[in-house]
Amino acid sequence: MKFTVVGAGAMGLRYGVLLQEAGNEVEFVDAWQPHVEKMKEQGGVYVKRDHENRHLVPVKVFYPEEYQNTDADVLVFFLKQMQLADMLERCKHFFTADQYVLTAMNGMGHVDKLLNYFKPEKLLAGTALVATVLDGPGEVDFIGKPGAGTMNLANYTEQPDEMTHKVVAELQKANFNPTLTTNFQGTLMAKVVFNSVVNTLCTLFEITMGEYAAFAKADELSVALINEAYDVCERAGIEMINTRQEELESVNYVSKVANPLHYPSMYQDMSKNRPTEVDYINGYLVELGRKYHYEAHTHAFLTNLVHLAEHTRQHK
Ligand code: NAD
Repeated sequence: MKFTVVGAGAMGLRYGVLLQEAGNEVEFVDAWQPHVEKMKEQGGVYVKRDHENRHLVPVKVFYPEEYQNTDADVLVFFLKQMQLADMLERCKHFFTADQYVLTAMNGMGHVDKLLNYFKPEKLLAGTALVATVLDGPGEVDFIGKPGAGTMNLANYTEQPDEMTHKVVAELQKANFNPTLTTNFQGTLMAKVVFNSVVNTLCTLFEITMGEYAAFAKADELSVALINEAYDVCERAGIEMINTRQEELESVNYVSKVANPLHYPSMYQDMSKNRPTEVDYINGYLVELGRKYHYEAHTHAFLTNLVHLAEHTRQHK
């Protein structure tokens, strides 16, 4: 199968490199100039596994404007939410009506933007419970042993077709441990809620997931945020794939067992003075609640706190 990965950052590289190593043809499109130049100059990307075994993986990388290939079976989108609209416009010349789209970006907002360019029956979206760090231009670190992490995905139409199963099979071969569901909103919102707790609190307090989980009152904080988020989702008629208790268990499992040493991706953005995705995570829950005349006070407060932290960094 042929994949074009749009967004060769941490996750785009992880998906693209592992799909390539599983026998697929993969090309990358990216717009961050120092990164693209570095990869072109060194003939690929330096990949580490859990900070070790740094080695060069040859990759084909292009700027959006120079990429003209329209023969990919699947376009894979891994950008930060606020980069997507601009990137879609810059890339639209290589989209075709037959192509499938796969994404596992965090937060919500991307689905509507992708649907401006692709048919609903071509859209596969999900969530990735795995940690990856872009150390700098041309350097990526896949956290966890091979086979670490899981992902959930669903068709926008909630009707898997033959191509869906082929994509899932390639993801399985590449060791992403995919689970296909037929609940689109519930699947995506489970990760939004997860991130609204762990990403946001770890970022604000500059701690790893394990340090958060070790705090005596962590469950109390998590439960307050999960409950408010689920109250929003219930009002919006979203059937969640986890119960509230299962969502808390997922927060605890990932923080204590799967990735205790990891700083979430929102923290990585904050520490590099990049804008965070908080408006698409806690902020998304706030906006969704307001549509149904419900004020998610705690999520609104946290969204503002993250923006205050971003603002504070600019003055340091
Ligand atoms: P990323 O920031 O590594 O890369 C996204 C894009 O930003 C790429 O095009 C990259 O080249 C560019 N970029 C990276 N650093 C930059 C800089 N300093 N200046 C300008 N551009 C820069 O993002 P990611 O971690 O791959 O995340 C993509 C999506 O996947 C997001 O929605 C994220 O929340 C989600 N996600 C990330 C992880 C993770 O562990 N990294 C895990 C699950 C989901």
